[in-house]
Amino acid sequence: MAANEALFRGVNEAIERGVWHGEEQSAAAFRCECARLDCNQLVSIAPGEYVLIRAYPRRFLVLPGHENPEIESVVETHEGYVVVEKRDEAGELADASDPRS
Ligand SMILES: [Zn+2]
Repeated sequence: MAANEALFRGVNEAIERGVWHGEEQSAAAFRCECARLDCNQLVSIAPGEYVLIRAYPRRFLVLPGHENPEIESVVETHEGYVVVEKRDEAGELADASDPRS
């Protein structure tokens, strides 16, 4: 039994690797990560591309036109989606312009 389980696990891992490898470059649907509360649109991008964006904690995937220039900068523009990076200064500027401080 144990030998069979090990064998199956090995097969599953091989299948997973194969699927992941094969689908890396074909588009999948991810949720738009913009700040709009009513946005539930999907962005079509390859999982391999998404992983590259997620490598930067401050970067987010949004649809073209969904970026908010006041709090984030567009760092990459692609066909069908843009990558934005949140700016720390956004919060600091808000503090600095507060007349009470
Ligand atoms: Zn959006």
